[in-house]
Amino acid sequence: MTKVVLITGASRGIGRATARMLGAHGWSVGVNYATNEAAAKQTAAEVGRAGGHARLIAGDVADEAQVIAMFDAVEHAFGRIDALVNNAGIVAPSMPLADMDATRLKRMFDVNVYGAYLCAREAARRMSKDRGGHGGVIVNVSSAASRLGSPNEYVDYAGSKGAVDTMTIGLAKELGPQGIRVNAVRPGLIDTDIHASGGRPDRAAVLGVQTPLGRPGTADEVAEAIVWLVSDASSYVNGALLDVSAGR
Ligand code: NAP
Repeated sequence: MTKVVLITGASRGIGRATARMLGAHGWSVGVNYATNEAAAKQTAAEVGRAGGHARLIAGDVADEAQVIAMFDAVEHAFGRIDALVNNAGIVAPSMPLADMDATRLKRMFDVNVYGAYLCAREAARRMSKDRGGHGGVIVNVSSAASRLGSPNEYVDYAGSKGAVDTMTIGLAKELGPQGIRVNAVRPGLIDTDIHASGGRPDRAAVLGVQTPLGRPGTADEVAEAIVWLVSDASSYVNGALLDVSAGR
C-alpha cells in the first residue's frame, strides 16, 4: 500500500528535497506551501519524476482553519495519512533582541511554534490508534540554533526551535502508545533560501567553512536524515533530536 506524507513548507529547500526523496521511495506527498505556488508545482513535478504522487496543498501553518483544511485535503486526495514532516519555518533579519519589534516576534512564534504545534495536533488526531487511526510518524524540523541560542542574530528563532525540541520530547512519550513515533532533526548551516530571507544570502557559505566539516550542508543531506526517521528503518527511534550540523 502506498504511504502518504504531508510535508509543510515543501515548495523549497529542505522540504522540497524531502518530498523528492520520499517520492523516490514510492510515497504519495502532500506538498504544502504558503505563497509560492510556482515553486510548489516544481516540487510536485520532481516528486512525479522520482516515481511518487504529489498534490499541492496551499495553507499557512499559523492559521488553524487552514491547517485543518490542509490535512483534510491530504486525506481526501490520498485516502489516508501516515506521516507528517513538520518543516515549514521562517527566520527574520539578524539583530539583537533589543531591536526586535513585537510584530516580528509574534510572527516568528506563530509560524515556528504555534504552526508546528497545530500541525502536530492534527497529525495526532488523525493517526492515533485510540482515535481510529493506524499510527504513523512525525518528524519535526528544529535547528541547531535551539542549543546554540543564535546571539545577535535571532534569539527569537532559536527559542522557537527550543519549543520544537521540547514538543518532540513530550509528544514522543504521549504518542508512542498510539503507534506514532515523534523525532526531530536539527540542521546546522544548510544552503537554502532561508538565509536570504534573513537578509544574508551568503550566511551558510560564509559560516559553513567554520564548521568541523569545513562547508555548509545541502538540503539533500538533511532530507536523508528525515527520510530515515520517516521510514521503518528507524522503527525503535522515538524522541530523538538528531543533529545534522557537521558537528557544529
Ligand atoms: P526555505 O528554503 O526558506 O523554505 C521555507 C519553506 O517554508 C517554503 O516552502 C515556504 O513556502 C514555507 N513556509 C514559510 N512560512 C510558511 C507558513 N506560514 N506556512 C506554510 N509554509 C510556510 O527554508 P529551509 O531552509 O528549507 O528551512 C526548512 C526548515 O528547516 C525550517 O523549519 C527551518 O527553520 C529549518 N532549518 C533550516 C536551516 C538552514 O540552514 N537552511 C537550518 C536549521 C533549520 P513558500 O515557498 O510558499 O514561501
